[in-house]
Amino acid sequence: ADTTLVDDLKARLRDVPDFPKPGIVFKDITPVLADPRLFGRVVNAMSAPFRGQHISKVVGVEARGFLLGAPLALALGAGFVPARKPGKLPYRSVVERYSLEYGADGLEMHEDALAPGERVLVVDDVLATGGTAEAAARLVKRLGGELVGFSFLIHLGFLDGGRRLAPTPVTSLLTF
Ligand code: AMP
Repeated sequence: ADTTLVDDLKARLRDVPDFPKPGIVFKDITPVLADPRLFGRVVNAMSAPFRGQHISKVVGVEARGFLLGAPLALALGAGFVPARKPGKLPYRSVVERYSLEYGADGLEMHEDALAPGERVLVVDDVLATGGTAEAAARLVKRLGGELVGFSFLIHLGFLDGGRRLAPTPVTSLLTF
């Protein structure tokens, strides 16, 4: 196991107070992505719990879930599916609405993004209230996918998002 990963991540993640709104402490992962060794260790550690679980699609949530989800998909030998904000996907899509820590929004996936019974992992950078991940989960289920788990880099535990996603397994590298 990568025993110093948590400490190295804590040293490199940047807290940006009052972004994008007063009262929100934004967890900026860009210093982690900019370091190729650390980025690689993150992808390795996030994929580890799901190795051997026959994941065939990783769903990444716009936008930072794309940055982590695409390398995770390759690490797991899975395909990548983007879950995007409304109006961005070019082909016929299904939508789920949700509310989040700072505002309300929706997520869309192409209607043919999953084959029935495909085993799916949902990936994002931060789990806050869980509203976004819950919407991604509803999309996966509507398209007939089997949701195997959620993988986050950071879990803001005080917001109780984990309870909202239960009983599906939720993993994260760091909890605040
Ligand atoms: P939620 O739906 O409340 O779990 O919010 C999760 C989504 O909002 C994810 O896509 C995160 O990227 C983003 N997000 C929420 N809170 C933060 C935060 N404090 N720092 C960075 N991103 C956040």
